[in-house]
Amino acid sequence: MTFKDEYDFDLLENQIENIVIKELEKQLALSENKNVCKCRDCVIDMAALALNHLKPAYRSSLSMKGYLYKQNLHAGNRDQAYAKVVKNTIQKIAENPSH
Ligand SMILES: [Zn+2]
Repeated sequence: MTFKDEYDFDLLENQIENIVIKELEKQLALSENKNVCKCRDCVIDMAALALNHLKPAYRSSLSMKGYLYKQNLHAGNRDQAYAKVVKNTIQKIAENPSH
């Protein structure tokens, strides 16, 4: 058994990933993005690009206390910042699709 098999690293969860995916879903549904390609390649590229611009917040999915709970005071600013990164990312991929 390798080290990687012995410990289940799939328990690692980047909480920012869920936020970015939700934000992508929300923004891609907007009428201003109706002409943006939503094929798998483009959407995965958008998620990857957005996540590369954001500081990750990993936690173990076994842990009940999420890192983000501690940051709730700044949730408003945080969500705005994420929305902006996702918006820029959609524009970049839409202009330069990799498919
Ligand atoms: Zn595409």
